[in-house]
Amino acid sequence: MRATLKEYFGYERFRPLQEDIIRHILERKDCLVLMPTGGGKSICYQIPALMMEGTAVVVSPLISLMKDQVENLRANGIEAAALNSNASEEENREIAERAYRGEYKLLYVSPERLLSEIQFGVLHHSSGTSPTGKLKVSMFAVDEAHCISQWGHDFRPEYTQLGKLKEFFPGVPVAAFTATADKITKEDIVQQLGLTKDDRGEATIFVSSFDRPNLSLDVRRGYSAKDKQRFIMALIARHPGESGIIYCMSRKTTESVAAKLQEKGVRAMAYHAGLSASGRDRVQEAFINDEIDVVCATIAFGMGIDKSNVRFVVHYNLPKSIESYYQEIGRGGRDGLPCETVLFYQVGDIITLRKFAEESGQQDINNEKLERMQEYAESQVCRRRILLNYFGETMDHDCDNCDVCKNPPRRFDGTILVQKALSAVMRTQQQIGFRLLIDILRGTSNQELYQKGYNMLKTYGCGRDVPFKDWQDYLLQMLHLGYIEIDYKDNSHIKVTPQGEDVLFGRKQAQLAVVVHEDLTVKGRKQKLREQPLVGLDLGGATEDMELFEKLRKLRVKLAAERGVPPYVIFGDRTLHQLATTKPKTRLAFGTVSGVGAHKQATLGTIFVKEIRKHLGMSVNEKETWNMMPSE
Ligand code: ADP
Ligand code: ZN
Repeated sequence: MRATLKEYFGYERFRPLQEDIIRHILERKDCLVLMPTGGGKSICYQIPALMMEGTAVVVSPLISLMKDQVENLRANGIEAAALNSNASEEENREIAERAYRGEYKLLYVSPERLLSEIQFGVLHHSSGTSPTGKLKVSMFAVDEAHCISQWGHDFRPEYTQLGKLKEFFPGVPVAAFTATADKITKEDIVQQLGLTKDDRGEATIFVSSFDRPNLSLDVRRGYSAKDKQRFIMALIARHPGESGIIYCMSRKTTESVAAKLQEKGVRAMAYHAGLSASGRDRVQEAFINDEIDVVCATIAFGMGIDKSNVRFVVHYNLPKSIESYYQEIGRGGRDGLPCETVLFYQVGDIITLRKFAEESGQQDINNEKLERMQEYAESQVCRRRILLNYFGETMDHDCDNCDVCKNPPRRFDGTILVQKALSAVMRTQQQIGFRLLIDILRGTSNQELYQKGYNMLKTYGCGRDVPFKDWQDYLLQMLHLGYIEIDYKDNSHIKVTPQGEDVLFGRKQAQLAVVVHEDLTVKGRKQKLREQPLVGLDLGGATEDMELFEKLRKLRVKLAAERGVPPYVIFGDRTLHQLATTKPKTRLAFGTVSGVGAHKQATLGTIFVKEIRKHLGMSVNEKETWNMMPSE
């Protein structure tokens, strides 16, 4: 197993659980694997596929994902292909023919395609008796397996038919993979796929840690559009020439944010369901090929891409659940290098999402999920602890890589502030929302307020000394502390809870967190830039040559363009950083770098070693020993 990993992928070690999963599949047993995005699922079926006789069939819902995987495998010298509706019938038939001859170790198939192949006697080549035709299937891997469940967030009807796999191919192991971990979905996958159970009547489920320590976590509450803009520009300035994704709730926002960034000279584009299929593909391709740096997208973006060097992920609005949030930030830093994530949220987000949930037809589940999301955003303890706890893991220490750990909230006695707000709510017979409440507290004049006579209230203007934004923050805290709630059945008006009454009538005190005002000015930004060291790998004392890194990055882009593949298929950032640090001067040394398998050593070794030698002012004569392979 280790030898195969090194030979084909150039990695020294397995990540936790990968080895157990591979061994289990090699014993021809079924399993379900839960691993976070970027955790390394693909290796878990690619290694058994290479080690077993026959062809592994991989079911995947997205054509772009298949294409990506196939390109990656080929770049590592592994025979693979994809059967899908994007190719012509003729191309598909050609692939099918080659599959029969056993030319592929892995064959990627969309679920609908797989089922029609089974129904029509597989690949138009029925031998009459066996539904497998002549294709010798070593195993089935079902990727994005949560698509089979109605409880998951991405249900696909075609997936429900996959239950037939065990019926048609009883002896062939099925391994299902997903990054979604909630309990109902998990049970549903096992049941619907009909995964075989052990002696104790249990299906084998491998659950890897969902921790992704290289993702920093940051939540920013109550930022205006302008603040967000400034914050994002500073973030981009920290990552020149690097890739990032900005997730927005609406199409309109994706477009306005992208336009603002373009104005500032950022290579950004919008991506949403309103674009044509070809328009969407274009944005995706441009992003994958490093032709643009930032994509402002609705949630649909990123499912189908494997880009490993995304360096920041922003949520412009609150996501609808922790699952979606974690999956989306998980698209950053897949190569294990640092990735910054930022989540903005305000009351408006909660109200909109609540409306979606009410209209979704599964309001109980969706409301519950939204509430958990809110709790996360409001958390005053280490955010990673909350996330991991949500996925059923416990973490016994603070992470030191989230905003709460870095800036623990300071508290003060906010009883009087809370009393002012609650009293204003009471005096309007609890018939106002956040905006109007703040206007009353601040004594602002606005038409609605006058019409309703709220300017006559005793509390009118009693909170004049607190800025609008701070009131927004305090009210969110009060919501989270359970002093108020939003009544969605009554125009999202604010209601005072029994706990709120305790504070209002002086029976209890209220502790609030001090609102932090971040310096978003250019000066503040520069300060922050200085604090943030450039990404470089610490490889036991050796320092990275950033100039060489840039040269190698350019070489990567050039080679990728020549070969018609995304740059990260040539090498990931991690491997490039390592090359720029260890600076291998022979092809032999090149082969020892993590991420360089035998095939890449043979096909890319000369080119890269030459570039490194040139940079170091060494000779690059072809006949010299540096260019010899071990066997030559
Ligand atoms: P997932 O499908 O779970 O989102 P991938 O299979 O795409 O994740 O793996 C994420 C990244 O981690 C890829 O770049 C992959 O090459 C790398 N990776 C996987 N396993 C290992 C390993 N054992 N050592 C080093 N890198 C690995
Ligand atoms: Zn933390």
